[in-house]
Amino acid sequence: METVMTDLFSKFDPLIETRRSLLATGVTDPFSLVMEKVLSPTTAICSGRETILLGTYNYMGMTFDPDVIAAGKQALDDFGAGTTGSRVLNGTYAGHRAVEEALKEFYAMDHAMVFSTGYQANLGIISTIAGKGDYIVLDIDSHASIWDGCKMGDAEVVPFKHNDIEAMEKRLRRIPEGAGKLVVLEGVYSMLGDIAPLKEMIRIAKSYGAMVLVDEAHSMGFIGPNGRGVAEDQGVLDDVDFVIGTFSKSVGTVGGFCVSNHPKFEIMRLVCRPYVFTASLPPSVVATAATSIRKLMHAGNKRAHLWENSRTLHGALTKLGFKLGTEEPQSAIIAVIMPDLERGAMMWEALLREGLYVNLARPPATPAGMTLLRCSLCAEHTAEQVQVIAGMFERAGKAVGII
Ligand code: PMP
Repeated sequence: METVMTDLFSKFDPLIETRRSLLATGVTDPFSLVMEKVLSPTTAICSGRETILLGTYNYMGMTFDPDVIAAGKQALDDFGAGTTGSRVLNGTYAGHRAVEEALKEFYAMDHAMVFSTGYQANLGIISTIAGKGDYIVLDIDSHASIWDGCKMGDAEVVPFKHNDIEAMEKRLRRIPEGAGKLVVLEGVYSMLGDIAPLKEMIRIAKSYGAMVLVDEAHSMGFIGPNGRGVAEDQGVLDDVDFVIGTFSKSVGTVGGFCVSNHPKFEIMRLVCRPYVFTASLPPSVVATAATSIRKLMHAGNKRAHLWENSRTLHGALTKLGFKLGTEEPQSAIIAVIMPDLERGAMMWEALLREGLYVNLARPPATPAGMTLLRCSLCAEHTAEQVQVIAGMFERAGKAVGII
């Protein structure tokens, strides 16, 4: 009998074809750009030319902060390049404790647990606290790491329409009496840059006896009087059971965390598999993160300038006739909606030729099948750079025929 091998890669054929036909148009591959040299939080050399960066998550511009860099170098000298071990064995150094202390102070919360990435923080916390027989009610536009955490924990997953308070309540109402319930929300949704009505949603979640987890990845450091996020800004941080965050955005390095006031929180260090079964962050990374977080506690001026940048660019792009993800600027992310992937890629390339890097986002990462040029502003963008960026959008948009 002849054995027929099923090619496990055949499921990728539609994507391979989409990619092939896009590249056949002669457009530069938007998903394989190389930063040849990074000059500052807002500029890099891409394809041999100096380019303004408008597609990073470096909201607060901490990547080149002199104190942050000095702390990283010192930790490399004092502790070496890596820990080569799990947090629960040989991988907890003084720096890991120090960054958890910095997080507890930053959020004024009792417990902080640092993961190797934000992805793992969501994966670990969600899958460990909500298991078989429990219910997770979540926004349908939640980040992939939230969905993956739900799947891994095997809870019943009940999505509701994006930012729809009534739809969320309807789902909560249907959950059987006495079942464990977790509501998962994000402060800022990263594709369109819109924020959640956390105040109302959390009030309702609590009235149904649910615990609440809020992913503040895109708001930490920037939104709220102390940069604690959208929950702080809306005055409901005390009602959030678990805040998830990342070091890969405003903090300017890599890593993830959960902060909480739950009295039993510390047991998570023994039962959370994505925390236990992976190596801890390198000493240089936790040292840069701790220094950055402490500086972000006193970054009111930077936050004000970033808001100004966001408002200026949002206003300029609206005036030029671009269709944006939100009517008013709600965060440091401004999503420019493209008519289709082809023109999105053309516009992306035209901007790159102008000397501007933005993120091209497409399904399945985006909601409703949209192609987006995602712009994220940085507190280190100068007012002049924002004007230059608006001019680049005008020329590229006219050349591609989008405005
Ligand atoms: N949550 C959200 C909402 C995110 O957007 C991201 C990353 N883009 C993450 C979590 C994961 O963060 P990290 O890069 O640290 O893995």
